[in-house]
Amino acid sequence: MFSLKENQETWKNWSGIVQSKPSHLAFPASVEDVVSLVKRCKEEGQGIRVVGSGHSFTPVVHTNEVLVSLDHLAGVEKVDAESQTVGVWAGTKLSDLSAALHAQGWAQENLGDIDKQSIAGAISTGTHGTGMKLGSIATQAVEIQVVTAAGEVLTCNRESHPELFRALQVSLGMLGIMVKVTLRVIPATVLTYESKRLSLDECFENLKEFRDHYRNFEFFWFPHTDTVQVKLMKEATNQLPSNRFWRDLNQMVMENALFGALSRVCRTVPSMSKTISRLSAKFVDTGKDVGYTHQLFTTTRLVRFNEMEYSVPTVWMETVVREIHQLVQENGYHVHFPVECRYVKGDDIWLSPAYGRDSAYIAVHMYKGMAHEKYFADVEAIFRRYNGRPHWGKLHTLQADDLTTLYPKIEDFKKIREQLDPNGMFLNDHLKKLFANE
Ligand SMILES: Cc1cc2nc3c(=O)[nH]c(=O)nc-3n(C[C@H](O)[C@H](O)[C@H](O)COP(=O)(O)OP(=O)(O)OC[C@H]3O[C@@H](n4cnc5c(N)ncnc54)[C@H](O)[C@@H]3O)c2cc1C
Repeated sequence: MFSLKENQETWKNWSGIVQSKPSHLAFPASVEDVVSLVKRCKEEGQGIRVVGSGHSFTPVVHTNEVLVSLDHLAGVEKVDAESQTVGVWAGTKLSDLSAALHAQGWAQENLGDIDKQSIAGAISTGTHGTGMKLGSIATQAVEIQVVTAAGEVLTCNRESHPELFRALQVSLGMLGIMVKVTLRVIPATVLTYESKRLSLDECFENLKEFRDHYRNFEFFWFPHTDTVQVKLMKEATNQLPSNRFWRDLNQMVMENALFGALSRVCRTVPSMSKTISRLSAKFVDTGKDVGYTHQLFTTTRLVRFNEMEYSVPTVWMETVVREIHQLVQENGYHVHFPVECRYVKGDDIWLSPAYGRDSAYIAVHMYKGMAHEKYFADVEAIFRRYNGRPHWGKLHTLQADDLTTLYPKIEDFKKIREQLDPNGMFLNDHLKKLFANE
């Protein structure tokens, strides 16, 4: 029987806002280990939560019972060039996945702005990048192997289990422990990147053009200003990737060391936030670059923060950002982190925030240790007026009733969850409140 390690340490997520003391830790290294672990916990009546990299801000990983890490169940198989797919063990970190794919001449079609997450965690929360024609990372999964609460290994795809597969893709670990996923991949692709400083009005005048004519487009609005940074990427024609050294160094100095120092000033003297946001807006990077997809999508984020992000139908991007702009103007919140605005293609995954609609994703951030509650609550009220659905890994205050109107397939999801895990082995308090029919 798989052995559990007793634990006395406090577990913390990336930002430190979620903390718990799991009674036991488990590091299975094979599918058999995971099966044995689940059977043991079932016999002993112990609850299980799986952790990927702990980069979610919501208490989705929180547990005082057994915490399972798949760090020892990681690795990438050889890409099948004919089907353009690859088998990936669930604990694999996105950075390792990118490196392994790149070495074989392949890549993921899109990524978010960091690559520290595990592939299973990224899929399970609907983690996304930006690009009107690109879905979230969960849409890259064509097959998922999961160990259920009964200790059975299920291999699901659209053909074999059409309903279960759509429920499983974004399921926050409630339907079982993912052990392996098969991902759709693309041949390694070189992109050109351009960063521009524009006014909010200029950005909105060109919004449709940016959104529809670039492979990847996002913008950051700097609170207390009318300035945005626009980032545009498209496929390169005959250009070679540039040397990463200077870009990486610049990122470490400007976006991490300098921004970190300015953030500490804001935490000590919150009224400085306005000045510092204005200063950041003045020094927006206006450079160009050429690189492989995974090199350009992701950045190093050493400055820790808390975050809330909602998706709204694409058509509301400008309206929502303008309302947040006005809100900040009227309330003068102490915030210096820019508001991040991205696009994601709609999908058919039951719990995906992009379910059934092309989506605009808008995220607000607050430096770790600074009060975020009032700012986030006021912005959340705007998101909710526009049918906003929260990113499951980012802060929100929705209750079970709210989900009923937002997610057309929520009852079907709950039914499948109940069938697969009638005793709620994979639920914690946070998930029970949102997803269990009691
Ligand atoms: C600095 C930073 C930048 C971020 N950037 C982005 C971004 O650009 N885009 C975006 O969409 N999000 C972003 N996020 C959010 C982040 O991508 C998600 O919260 C993601 O889930 C974290 O992955 P993880 O491996 O840390 O998962 P965790 O937070 O550890 O877990 C997330 C969920 O997945 C479940 N899970 C993990 N492994 C398994 C498994 N093997 N089987 C079943 N369930 C499992 C967990 O139980 C939990 O419910 C960012 C977060 C941070 C801190």
